[in-house]
Parts: sequence; C-alpha cells; structure tokens
Amino acid sequence: MQQYEQLRARMAELGHIHSAIAVLGWDQQCYMPAGGAEERAEQFSTLGKIAHEMFVSDETRRLLDGAEAEVAGLAGDTDEALTVRVVRRDFDKATKLPTELVIEMAKTTTLAHEIWVKARGESDFAQFAPSLEKILDLNRRAAEHLGYEDRMYDALLDQYEPGMKTREVERVFDELRPGLVQLVQEIAERPPIDDSVLRRDFDEDRQLRFGETVIKKMGFDFARGRQDRAVHPFCTSFGKDDVRITTRFDKNWLPSALMGTIHETGHALYEQGLDPGDDNTPLSGAASLGVHESQSRLWENTIGRSRTFWNVFFPDLQKAFPESLSDVDVDTFYRAINKVQPSLIRVEADEVTYNLHIMLRFEMEKALLDGSLSVADAPEAWNQKMREYLGVTPPDDARGILQDVHWSSGSFGYFPTYSLGTLLSAQLYDKALADVPGIADDLARGEYGTLLDWLRTHIHRPGRRYLPAELVQRACGEPAQSRSYLRYLRAKFGELYGLS
Ligand code: ZN
Repeated sequence: MQQYEQLRARMAELGHIHSAIAVLGWDQQCYMPAGGAEERAEQFSTLGKIAHEMFVSDETRRLLDGAEAEVAGLAGDTDEALTVRVVRRDFDKATKLPTELVIEMAKTTTLAHEIWVKARGESDFAQFAPSLEKILDLNRRAAEHLGYEDRMYDALLDQYEPGMKTREVERVFDELRPGLVQLVQEIAERPPIDDSVLRRDFDEDRQLRFGETVIKKMGFDFARGRQDRAVHPFCTSFGKDDVRITTRFDKNWLPSALMGTIHETGHALYEQGLDPGDDNTPLSGAASLGVHESQSRLWENTIGRSRTFWNVFFPDLQKAFPESLSDVDVDTFYRAINKVQPSLIRVEADEVTYNLHIMLRFEMEKALLDGSLSVADAPEAWNQKMREYLGVTPPDDARGILQDVHWSSGSFGYFPTYSLGTLLSAQLYDKALADVPGIADDLARGEYGTLLDWLRTHIHRPGRRYLPAELVQRACGEPAQSRSYLRYLRAKFGELYGLS
C-alpha cells in the first residue's frame, strides 16, 4: 500500500493549502481592511495555482493509478477503496476540462459579474443577455468535456451534487409541485399573519449573546469554532476542530441574525461532526452541497421554527428584550416567524414558497441549456412561471430574472441542491424520530444531543465515503423523496393557517 500512503500524504498537503485559502477568505469577509483587496486577490491566485498544479500533476496521476491497483483486491466499502474512489472522482473532474476552457470561463464570468451588477442596478436584462449567452455556451462545452449519458444537465448537476441525475431531480420535484402549489393557494386565501413584533427594536449585542446561548445548546462547540460578524452569513471550516460561522445583524428584523445563526450552525455542526479519524484525508468533508443544506435547513426550520423550540427559548428571548417582547406571547411569536407570503425574491422566501422559486430556476436552466428557451425570451418565461407557481408577477427584471448571482458566476446546476437539501431535511428528521422515539421528548425539554447523535452517526461521520444517493439510502432505507416534506408542511401550516 505504498502508493496509497503516498497519495494520502499528498492529499493531506493539498488539504492544508485549501485550509489556508479558506482562512484568507474568512479574514477577507470578516476583518480585512478594504485596502487589502488587491494583495489578497494575488494571494488567492498564487495559492490556488499551486494547489491546482499539485493536484492535476503527473505525480498525482501516477500515485492514483498505483493506489487503484493496490486497492483493487479490497472490498469496495473499505476506507482504502472509498478514499481512492473519492480522489479519482475529484481528479477526473479537475482534469477533464481543458485549461483554455477554464481560463475562458474565469475571464467571462469576472466580466459578466460586473455587467450583471450594473444590469440589476438598472433593472435591464438586455445588458446581461449577451453575457448569459456566452456563459451558456461555455457551460455546454464544459458539459461535453465532463461527459454525461442521458442529459447534458447531468454533467453540470454532478459538479455540485455528485452522482445526481436530472431525471431524479425531476422525479422528486414532480412529486412535490402540485401539492405545494395548492398549499400556497390555500394559504393565500387565508388572512395574513401579522409579523410586526419581529420589526421592533432589538439591540445587536444582545442578539449576538442570545444567539450564542441557543447554538451552544444545539451543540456548537466554541472550543472548536467561533462566530464573527460579516456582510454575508456563511460557514467555513479549516478542519473539524476549527469551524467558523458568520452572522449579520439587523436591529429591526430579528430573524435575520437569529435564524441566520441557527442556519449556519446547522452547517457548522456537520463540519464539527466529521469523523476525527478522517481529519485531513479525502474522506473528510461533506457528501455534497445538498446534504450540507439538509443540515442547515433541519436546524433552522424543522427545529428552529418549531413551536417546541420556542416553548423552550421564548422566555429567555423575552428576558433578553423585555422592552420589545414583554407584551408578546409565544404563540404570536411562533406565528410571526412562520409567516407565509408568496414573494418575488428567493432569498427572502419562507419555507412553503421557497422550493417553488428553485423549481422555476431548475426548469429555466434546463430549457436555456438545451436551447428550447432563448435568452431573449427568458425574462417573460420567468415572469410566467412566477405567476403560475406563486401568483405574483415581478414588476421588473431586478426583482425577476436578474435577482441571483449564480448565472453571472457561471453556476448552472447549483440551484437544485438547495431544494434537495430542504427535502432531505424532512426525510432525515422523520427517520431519526422513527429510529429514536426519545428524540421528541428531548426536543420538548430543549435537549438536542440525541438528535445530533443520530445525525452524527448517519450523516456527519460518513463524510465523503458515499455519494449523496448512497448516503440517503443507507440513512433512510429508501431513496430521496418529497413525501416527508409535503406532510411536514401540510401539518405545520395547515394548523397555523387553519386549513382543512
Ligand atoms: Zn446554507
């Protein structure tokens, strides 16, 4: 196993470089003065180049070929065989795209991003259209190089959700769509929920402290992680013992920091829960973006927006903000943080409408990619789907097709991961409760250890050993499905909105 060991050592060194890049990225978002931007960009570029060249080198190829031969006789589910499988997948992805194409994509998207910012500011899709044409064409070329058996979109999807197929996403979304559209319509006919209590005054430092007590209870380990302020909330990791989350605060919109912190903590618990024995090996890390998102959504929504959760924490929240919440009861608060309202902007969408925003993007991406929808017709197609799914019409491109950064950065196939994660969160939660009936009682007492243990065992510790579909099958005994999510939504929002 000599080549295998050498391959692992090489991957460990690469892991250190990627962690260093992540530290620089974290610092840039949290503490770097504006003046550091230019130098920082060069640091990223140098380290990125070193990491890429080291990974795609002949030496890596030689060690990988050798390691494959060495593990050929082992069972497929040994760590050695799984490690080599992970590296092979990453290596193929990194080497299949010709360098010219990668460079052209980088140049095009750097430019396209600037154009998109301006087009969105002026709400004028026509300015962005030529860039989108170019990006689509580059993505088609990338898909041809990456390879696919059935649909071109598979190749793009696979970059974010390894092994996932377009057909599989269609199956899950088709199951979900009718029930979801109907639920949105039923809710729209009911009197709206009043969420004005969330817009009162909430001192930012007290928001920070309250958030910390909540996420400590959830299991966030401050000896192996920290929280800082940043413009955009995110979670990043430099190894399982150093996981960072960031939060942004809005004095007059409590959910921004509170639910954002819980969301990022869901990501952080995954990173902190990876198997200690895997640290800095190819097996360490999340199975996919979708699986990562299943953890953040589970903690943010299934737990953090539940009545049980606020039965536990609302008295403390009231104590933290007596001037704003002393006249509010837990039921009013619970209703407020679960208000459903079909809206124009994806990132502001609630639990019920969110997935319809994603389905729209998934359908648009497929149609744009295979040419059945032209770029010129895209804004109207977008607005048409918004009417059909959510009953609202964007008044302009800025609040319609230009709202997301993803396409300008070249990312096609990314959006479905958000919904796959959301659906998986409900499926996992159902299975955890079925496996460990005591979890429900623990949650009612504000104890999260039993739920976290189940997630550690079935999702966190396996790391990258299995493809997302394999992981779901192992954890749940069935493939991904949308049944659990739809049932969860109907029960929760049926009660909240008094639906039959
Ligand atoms: Zn997330």
